[in-house]
Amino acid sequence: MSDRRPLVSGNWKMHLTHLEAIQVVQKLSYALDRGPQGEVEVSVHPAFTALRSVQTVLDADEIPVALGAQDVHWEDKGAWTGEVSPTMLAKLNVRYVIVGHSERRQHLGETDEWVNRKLRATLRAGMTPICCVGETAAQRDAGETRDHVVGQLHAALEGVDAAAVAGVVVAYEPVWAIGTGRTATPEDAQAVCAALRAAVGERWGADAAAGVRIQYGGSVNEANAADLLGQADVDGALVGGASLDPVAFAAVVAAA
Ligand code: PGA
Repeated sequence: MSDRRPLVSGNWKMHLTHLEAIQVVQKLSYALDRGPQGEVEVSVHPAFTALRSVQTVLDADEIPVALGAQDVHWEDKGAWTGEVSPTMLAKLNVRYVIVGHSERRQHLGETDEWVNRKLRATLRAGMTPICCVGETAAQRDAGETRDHVVGQLHAALEGVDAAAVAGVVVAYEPVWAIGTGRTATPEDAQAVCAALRAAVGERWGADAAAGVRIQYGGSVNEANAADLLGQADVDGALVGGASLDPVAFAAVVAAA
């Protein structure tokens, strides 16, 4: 039995205006209150435009939910039109930053090198990266899942020392499972998460492997969460669609 604290994160993607986000987080607070949250940590990841509003609600009502972002730039400031810096996020009390989501890798040109820079910049600013890795359906069919996700992991964590790796969150998200209603079986999710943990152990040592938290993501909902999160090496979930519904998201938290 590990003493890793499970983390259930809601990735709201490009949904919810700041006004809608306020309503969702208030409803989420109510839904969590009535369920057994226990030792599970919860984060929500609004769009940049809603971060300040959600932060204000979380602080004012002392809601036990951490603020998260969906992306970050690697420089602290500068001529980067449209980008948001680690310092800006840290000042808003952002604790978790998603880096390397497959939607950004696939559609927005995010490279392994960028993911690595963003991950290290997140750590430098005192926040915790949630580093996404995952294989496509073709890679899965070709039997390349393990090599691909371990390769992404190595690239993302390049240059990070063992103590910092122990505090990082990795999200294993099969690309074919995201937003499709198809999930990995609990056994497959466990096998890949265990392989990722073993890879951390080989390069960064046993303490880093024992500390790193590994989430599963991809069509997690209130019906499948308990089986997926019951696996020994699955330390929580990164939830997209179901996190927009406060009641469903609270049920995922309760299952963790
Ligand atoms: P989904 O998204 O739960 O809607 O599949 C997960 C994610 O992309 O993080």
